[in-house]
Amino acid sequence: MLTAEETVVGGLNFQLNDDQKMLRDLTRDFVRNEFMPVVEHYDQTGEWPTELFEKAMEIGLANMNIPEEYGGLGASVLEECIVGEEYAYGCTGLSTALGVNQLAALPINIAGTDAQKAKYFNRVIDEKAIMSYCMTEPDAGSDVAGIKSTAIRRGDTYILNGAKTWITGGPVARYFTVFAKTDPDAGHKGMSCFIVEREWAGVSVSKPLEKLGQHAAQTSMVFFEDVEVPAENLLGREGDGFMIGMRVFDKSRPPVASGATGIARRALDEAVKYAGERYAFGQPISQFQGVGFMLADMKIRADAAHHLAMRSAWDIDNGLRNTSSAAVAKAYCSEAAVLNASDAVQVFGGNGYSREYPVEKLIRDAKIYQIYEGTTQIQKMIILRELYKDAR
Ligand SMILES: Cc1cc2nc3c(=O)[nH]c(=O)nc-3n(C[C@H](O)[C@H](O)[C@H](O)COP(=O)(O)OP(=O)(O)OC[C@H]3O[C@@H](n4cnc5c(N)ncnc54)[C@H](O)[C@@H]3O)c2cc1C
Repeated sequence: MLTAEETVVGGLNFQLNDDQKMLRDLTRDFVRNEFMPVVEHYDQTGEWPTELFEKAMEIGLANMNIPEEYGGLGASVLEECIVGEEYAYGCTGLSTALGVNQLAALPINIAGTDAQKAKYFNRVIDEKAIMSYCMTEPDAGSDVAGIKSTAIRRGDTYILNGAKTWITGGPVARYFTVFAKTDPDAGHKGMSCFIVEREWAGVSVSKPLEKLGQHAAQTSMVFFEDVEVPAENLLGREGDGFMIGMRVFDKSRPPVASGATGIARRALDEAVKYAGERYAFGQPISQFQGVGFMLADMKIRADAAHHLAMRSAWDIDNGLRNTSSAAVAKAYCSEAAVLNASDAVQVFGGNGYSREYPVEKLIRDAKIYQIYEGTTQIQKMIILRELYKDAR
């Protein structure tokens, strides 16, 4: 008999193929054997999970979207989602840390020349290096076109100046993909994107920023002061930066939505288990409709989230425009993560508020999904814009 996941109805196929199932099972085993014993350590210390990253690299579960000819897995967005959901089920902090190279690699995949890909992807793989994606600035997050960093051409170099903030992996990264204005007066058309090396004069990083959750994924400020960037490190042409940034979102949002799905699923499983074991008034609390309906709502959200995230990945992998489906998935899945984590705490009662139990971490880790890779409000703006575009 087919499982729900394998059901085929009227030409719609929800079945993972054999390779995808193997990838999911490999990730599940990796999470069980390698994540679970160290989750608490990284949550409490906030250290960067170098050893875990290197183990993931060895079995092809990091640097997934780097093309095979440069040592990566050449994974599809859907495959990234399969891994992202399983990782996040174990720990979303570790999941974000292990996925950071995939975000930073996207501008190179989208706009890099063969020479740029060969040079930097080979180095990243050989050095087991971390790469970070540098868009956000202290005065410009949602308003991407409002960034103030500049890269002004001088002969064969660009002189890069600016400050970036909330950069995942910033404290440990050896390479950065950096967005800056090559023509500061041209609005979004004046934005460009560069590959920058940590070792270059004028590049510095702050201490890790203290934050609510996802402690295993350090973030920091990154500063560029008169950094000489060789012109050959420009990705695409001058002025392509905004387009590159938008195309990045179409590929980065589905895996982020899958990460949110992982936390929604984990919250559900923890709540179901606890509600079946905890007694009040002489019966398991799952028997009270007030609790049972919470569990049912959590199940509805986790399933819907899974399908929306996978659908948006499938769209882009099949050459379809997924700007709307990725925004829908990102907005819905992140809400599912936050609501399920909150309901899980409620099901656990006082114990849900305790560090002794797993759901306290889930609620700290879930909130970020409504903020990074574009806030929920920005997703709704995109969805609205796309609705009227379709109607034209
Ligand atoms: C833990 C973490 C990791 C991150 N990692 C990275 C990274 O690796 N690289 C990177 O470049 N960035 C990263 N970011 C930055 C992240 O993408 C931004 O924080 C996010 O895009 C929001 O920008 P902001 O913080 O400047 O908020 P703002 O843009 O100032 O928004 C503040 C509030 O106003 C709302 N708002 C803004 N504009 C509108 C509008 N037009 N309509 C309605 N509401 C609006 C927002 O939804 C939000 O609620 C990270 C952030 C965090 C917290």
